[in-house]
Amino acid sequence: MIDVNTPIIYICDYDFVRVDNIISQSLNQKKIFEWNPATGTTNFSNKLPLGSGKEQSLESFLYDKYMDESGSEKYLVLKEIHDYLDDSVIKSLLLLMSQRRLYDPEYNITIIILSTTLKVPNEIEKYVSFLEVDYPDENEINALIEEHIDINFYDRSKFTQSDRDKLMPSLKGMTAFEIDRMLDMAMSSNGSLSAEDTEMILKQKKQMVKKSGLLELIDTPEKLSDIGGMNALKDYLERKAKIIKQLSEAYKFGVSIPKGIFIVGMPGCGKSLCAKASAALFEAPLLKLDMGSMMGKYVGESESNLRKAIRIAEAASPCVLWIDEIEKAFSGVKDGNSDILMRMFGYFLSWLQDKKSAVYVIATANNAENLPPELKRKGRFDEIFCVNLPNEKEREDIFKVHFQKRNRNVSFDISKLIKQTDGFNGADIESVVVEAIEECFLDKTKSFTEQLLIEKAKETVSISRSCKKQIDTMKTLFKDSSFKNATNGLIIDNM
Ligand code: ATP
Repeated sequence: MIDVNTPIIYICDYDFVRVDNIISQSLNQKKIFEWNPATGTTNFSNKLPLGSGKEQSLESFLYDKYMDESGSEKYLVLKEIHDYLDDSVIKSLLLLMSQRRLYDPEYNITIIILSTTLKVPNEIEKYVSFLEVDYPDENEINALIEEHIDINFYDRSKFTQSDRDKLMPSLKGMTAFEIDRMLDMAMSSNGSLSAEDTEMILKQKKQMVKKSGLLELIDTPEKLSDIGGMNALKDYLERKAKIIKQLSEAYKFGVSIPKGIFIVGMPGCGKSLCAKASAALFEAPLLKLDMGSMMGKYVGESESNLRKAIRIAEAASPCVLWIDEIEKAFSGVKDGNSDILMRMFGYFLSWLQDKKSAVYVIATANNAENLPPELKRKGRFDEIFCVNLPNEKEREDIFKVHFQKRNRNVSFDISKLIKQTDGFNGADIESVVVEAIEECFLDKTKSFTEQLLIEKAKETVSISRSCKKQIDTMKTLFKDSSFKNATNGLIIDNM
């Protein structure tokens, strides 16, 4: 960025020590000036206020540097100045300095804004480039672990390679500062560091990821066997799991890294269940991305949020990134009426297309009618599956899953029940079983029979009745030949 004369580089991060180190390393021996609201003009190396220091306002600091005629190369690190960016004089100084940086070859000052909050006023947006500092990789995480072992005088022989391998995935996707805190907590809880700390770290990490407001770390107790029907989709996921679990060998062999799948289908038919069961099958964490929460107030904020979320996922890989209700996020793109949405969509698509990391994306949608065609095109996702309402065999399987889940050893025939539940989705079937069991519990004269289940089914307003219009639309949509049927794997046109 510096080489192409970027006037302002914006780094949104809160690990100032780490970013300062990166700045020092990149700008080795160059003149760096710091200003922050606490100590004013500050010595970048030792963090002590300089000269008049605290008395110098941001305005006078910038004014001095704007008037600089020395022609020498200088870097200004402005920390936590987001609250000052509403001030018209500050905005104007930043604008003038940016223009001077671009048009005056004698003026060689680059501004680096380092802030915990992203806020870029419209007036200077064109001169700002955003820079994201990557999360620590395995080497850096290992270095942090070593540091903690040394500081705590922990017996190194007690920390085995297997401990390290088990701990590593849980420490990925966090900043160095957060990893430090986790290791401190692990050490102080029982005076040791081992694979047993993984559970505590994951618990803390869950909170952290949630606090970021962009992603959620979801528990995945579900197994593939908890899904009734969808055999083609389940077989497909089992094949991919074999690849993901030995990714580096597969890659060396020439196998393409799985990108992910797009599951479109009727509501309550088990799409979310599939996302959860896949993560468990891949033995990888499940990160749920809420597109709605990406939208920010300031210029560049929404894109930055999406980039940040993707960066967390990449750092936490191998993982499954679940984008639920993707239609809600990107349906506006088709009309081209939102620049922000278009940019986010473009970024997401190119990331998906070029993705080299082991982030397996599962996007789910109830309604793909208004989705931009680019998303449905092959090459973005490995496959697009459509989930129809379950057929007879699938309804039987789903009933069996829910009987088993609730410890009902059912030996009676349920063929009439299967017929009765035509047009039901998985969630409807589950509710029939739940209602019948509740009835037996409350009224001890009742027994769990096919007749009782049929009664409950008759009382249920199934999906095909409550969402008739949506289902009809979906059926038309499924005529799209690029969709594969989750039940039998056939391309929809061949059905
Ligand atoms: P929505 O699109 O409305 O979010 P969905 O397709 O993601 O729905 P799920 O949330 O996965 O549906 O399903 C809701 C509940 O219905 C599940 O928790 C599960 O108990 C039951 N269910 C749905 N489909 C199946 C299935 N194929 N096998 C077993 N249970 C199912």
